[in-house]
Amino acid sequence: MTTYSHSRVSTYENCPYKYKLQYIEKHKPESPTTIEAFMGSMVHETLEHLYRLKKFKKRVALNVLIKFYRDLWGKNYSDDILIVKEDKEKVGAENYRKMGEKMIKDYYERLKPFEDMTILGLETMDRMTLPDGNQWHVRIDKFACDDEGNYYVCDYKTNSRMKDQEEADEDRQLALYSIWVKDKFPDAKSVKLIWHMLAFNKDAISERTDEQLEKLQQDVCNIIKEIENAKEFPTNVTALCNYCGFKSECPSFKHQAELEKIETVKEFKEDAGVKLVDEFSEVKKTLSELNKKEDELKDKLVQYAKQFGIDIVYGSNMKAGVKEIDKVVLPENKEELIAFLKEKGIWDGISMINFMGFQSKVLKGELGEEVREKVDVVKDHRLSLSKRKDVEEE
Ligand code: SF4
Repeated sequence: MTTYSHSRVSTYENCPYKYKLQYIEKHKPESPTTIEAFMGSMVHETLEHLYRLKKFKKRVALNVLIKFYRDLWGKNYSDDILIVKEDKEKVGAENYRKMGEKMIKDYYERLKPFEDMTILGLETMDRMTLPDGNQWHVRIDKFACDDEGNYYVCDYKTNSRMKDQEEADEDRQLALYSIWVKDKFPDAKSVKLIWHMLAFNKDAISERTDEQLEKLQQDVCNIIKEIENAKEFPTNVTALCNYCGFKSECPSFKHQAELEKIETVKEFKEDAGVKLVDEFSEVKKTLSELNKKEDELKDKLVQYAKQFGIDIVYGSNMKAGVKEIDKVVLPENKEELIAFLKEKGIWDGISMINFMGFQSKVLKGELGEEVREKVDVVKDHRLSLSKRKDVEEE
């Protein structure tokens, strides 16, 4: 049995390829962390420190706490921490340090003297057993209760997007922890899930019913089953790739990473891959211009033929036939037409397979093994051309 966590399952959901590198092949990322995650962990450690001192009834002044944060940052910061290119140019690491500092100050001022709840655990390191026998990692930033039997599962969020109520009500991470709380503390009258959205100095709060928790556990077991049965781990290119530490190993970014090591424009232009894509894009551009030109010429020839009442136009070596033909245009509501043709008994003789729809259903296994065995599934390649967003236009 394996120990899963919210971040492990989310990695698979966001990019199966990254999951394979990180959790199956256990590769080390090229940067130890991103600046966002680093700032988040410095803020977490500082707030943990605050509550640990409070536990021993020690007074913690804000300036002492800020000094703790600054020292912690200085001791742990390293130049190989990943800062997304645009952020590096615009703001830099120092700005992130200041952002974290402001979050701590705001939190401190809002919640001092921190006696609204009794702290039961900080950065918990427990596990719970899922219905499928796998383990789930329970890591709660701040776990607390009050005198009325309410328990609080609190998470510090340092990201710059406020969690709205709908998102809080659908969040998997803290919701699963409430199962652990209910199991460990049967006296719990309620388990409140609280996200301290530190960048906004606000909280998002949610709670789950037993039925919702039951369904959630089942959903998680289903995803785990999918992960454990997965045979292919495709890449999934999204905005999150900017923060991925495996770009130089990823098929979608390996070439880009190689190109970044090249120092001269001449060398860059001589790269075999660069040459092929440049040539391919030139050909595509020419083809699209030619297609446009072909359409224009067709229109002009039709006009010319109509004007002189002719149906063959003669050139130097070739001639162009211009015949008026009838074309059937299908109605918007195709279902109605199909139903009509079926009713008339003429559908079977004229229907054509919607190949794209058929292919997608076969590949997803929606048509069953019997249909799958009637066709061959082979490897093919689809080529697409798009603009590189990471380079300036020439
Ligand atoms: S760079 Fe993107 S696509 Fe590649 S492994 Fe990382 S997350 Fe996946």
